[in-house]
Amino acid sequence: MITVHNLGFPRIGATRELKFALEAYWKGEFARDALQDLGARLRKRHWEDQAGLDLVPVGDFAFYDQVLDMSFTLGNLPERVSNLKGDQLDNYFRVARGRSAQSATEPHACCSNVAAGEMTKWFDTNYHYIVPEFSAATEFKLDATRLVEQLGEAKRQGVKAKPVIIGPVTYLALGKAKDDSNKLTLLPSLLDVYAQLLETLAEQGVEWVQVDEPILVTELTQDWQHALNFAYHQLKACRVKLLLATYFGQLEENRYLAVNLPVAGLHVDAVTGRDDLQPLLNLWPDHKVLSLGVINGRNIWRTDLTAVLDWLEPLAKRLGDKLWIAPSCSLLHVPVDLSSEQNLDAEIKPWLAFAVQKLEELRVLAQGLRAGRASVREALAANQAALASRSASPRVMNPVVQRAVAEIDAKLSTRNSNYARRAAEQAKRLKLPVYPTTTIGSFPQTVEIRRARSAFKAGTLDETGYKKAMQAEIERGVREQEALGLDVLVHGEAERNDMVEYFGEQLEGYVFSQFGWVQSYGSRCVKPPILFGDIRRPKAMTVEWTTYAQSLTEKPMKGMLTGPVTILNWSFVRDDQPRSTSCRQLALAIREEVLDLEKAGVRVIQIDEAALREGLPLRRAQWKEYLSWAIECFRIAANGVADQTQIHTHMCYSEFNDIIASVADMDADVITIETSRSDMQLLDAFDNFDYPNEIGPGVYDIHSPNIPTQEHIVQLMKKAAERIPASRLWVNPDCGLKTRQWAEVLPALTNMVAAAKLLREAA
Ligand code: GLN
Ligand code: ZN
Repeated sequence: MITVHNLGFPRIGATRELKFALEAYWKGEFARDALQDLGARLRKRHWEDQAGLDLVPVGDFAFYDQVLDMSFTLGNLPERVSNLKGDQLDNYFRVARGRSAQSATEPHACCSNVAAGEMTKWFDTNYHYIVPEFSAATEFKLDATRLVEQLGEAKRQGVKAKPVIIGPVTYLALGKAKDDSNKLTLLPSLLDVYAQLLETLAEQGVEWVQVDEPILVTELTQDWQHALNFAYHQLKACRVKLLLATYFGQLEENRYLAVNLPVAGLHVDAVTGRDDLQPLLNLWPDHKVLSLGVINGRNIWRTDLTAVLDWLEPLAKRLGDKLWIAPSCSLLHVPVDLSSEQNLDAEIKPWLAFAVQKLEELRVLAQGLRAGRASVREALAANQAALASRSASPRVMNPVVQRAVAEIDAKLSTRNSNYARRAAEQAKRLKLPVYPTTTIGSFPQTVEIRRARSAFKAGTLDETGYKKAMQAEIERGVREQEALGLDVLVHGEAERNDMVEYFGEQLEGYVFSQFGWVQSYGSRCVKPPILFGDIRRPKAMTVEWTTYAQSLTEKPMKGMLTGPVTILNWSFVRDDQPRSTSCRQLALAIREEVLDLEKAGVRVIQIDEAALREGLPLRRAQWKEYLSWAIECFRIAANGVADQTQIHTHMCYSEFNDIIASVADMDADVITIETSRSDMQLLDAFDNFDYPNEIGPGVYDIHSPNIPTQEHIVQLMKKAAERIPASRLWVNPDCGLKTRQWAEVLPALTNMVAAAKLLREAA
């Protein structure tokens, strides 16, 4: 008989209970016991949500991050916290959040300068984990308390528990050797602790352990392939059965390795890795469990259950009880429960499935495989009806949009002249000094702004009132910028709560959930808008605000847009057409906005692509394809303008080495980037590439409340000028200022403008 299981469940809570409790705890407004209690209650509820599965994950709950949990389990704490006294949970938050993690109820003067652990993206998701730290001297020591306690809870609640841990090789691969030592030399001692951990779990009566090794879907060097072989041969003697879990992609060249590791079962992502399946089956040994991730754990769409049964049924016959089914990956990456949604468009809601609904789909599949399709006839019919409604909906397919995409040609994405010609035209029109100053777009989102927005949403403030309030903010921002003496101004983005949602709300083809939150890191969640249909821009989205701002000043006012690739990468996207097609539709919509801004007399237009880099596929072999359509989309959006209109783009990250050619290919007249924390070294990538256009290397870190000094900014810009000719440099902060206070912004920008003046005089 087939086994049905789950790899992981979202832990933040259907109404983000965990988020609010954590934040209250950090402020000292919530007791530690109450927080621990809430954790237990959430686990209980989530296990209930997973009732009926043959195996339920235990250990997937984390107060902050599952990788950090693993670091604690392995006794691998950064040295800087290893001898701190106090409660374990507080130490845990200290590693996660740095010194601000001190709980107010237990202030440790001793720990006031603990640096937060570095955070980075979990594979190609928008989840961020705390990077494990290693050095040649790292020693591991088992602390299985968390897992043992949670197993105890599960046992008391009658849960058929399958503990989930991160595998040793993925754990090592994701970490960072602080002393540049070779992490792999730690593997043998790490494996000793894993062996102890597995033995502890066996003592608890555990039969199966899920060991996550998603590293297997990435390109591995021989060393790392050997490491996998070595690791699982070492762990072979353990008394529990290991289900090695891979997800997020295809095994490809690692297939043979994965199939032959001496473990009892292998989970593969049968959604993104469908092409692996036949070759895998050809290699499959009879005694081994094959777990197929058949429900997409990364999107919010209903699965076509009949289609899955079509290909699953013959497999079930062949594999018998060696076939398991599950979602493709942990459901951490989807919202909890669609039934919480009260305001979702009634036509669209039945097309969707969040975590709870995805597990229901899994139950239907299992029942269909066990007792025949007839036993789930009604569920399958309802599923078919929902899918049919989706594919027939005129709100999904818009022939006008599809024709426009089909007609995209190279001319559409190419400017009339090369950069040199354009730069000359723009210089004549804009008359900017050398080292021109600007900001990245947003100004502080003040209490007044937030208050006006929520009153407007609640209906207690009418549209005229709301508009007035926003215009007042814009005016304030313009006056401040004029007083500061900035050269290219911004309207401040007061009217935007989010750089993607703001555009999504105005485009046809998008819907928004109320509770569709997904954990991004710690207590932070994002609520990605849902892109369901062909994208159309019914009317201008930003022109009114921008022209209002321009009317208040003679200085050039930058139009401010979010780019198509960023909108795409921060949305839940369609599964019925390639990402590239959705992106081209977004590109056409943004292009219309760009052209409307230009028509309205806006001379400088910035198109932010904050998330372009994070869309890079896991495998380098696929980068080229992604970059080719992503860059094309930016160019479609940007390049319809006349030579004299200046296009800016902004990317708030710092790794450009491996994508610099594509960034140059975007051909924006000006790019602003994050560089201040690297002491301008990141400009080397641009220098080495002979990047031809203008660059604004961020001169101060907006994430910090510290006020940069004029001297420091001058010094940074001098370093920049060693790499990029001064005539092509701009002076600006690293990113938008929305999270800062005016009291911080004004002195910082004062110093920045003063620094630019000094640089000009010296030039
Ligand atoms: N224009 C946006 C802002 O200033 C850019 C934000 C971002 O890059 N993340 O807030
Ligand atoms: Zn930014």
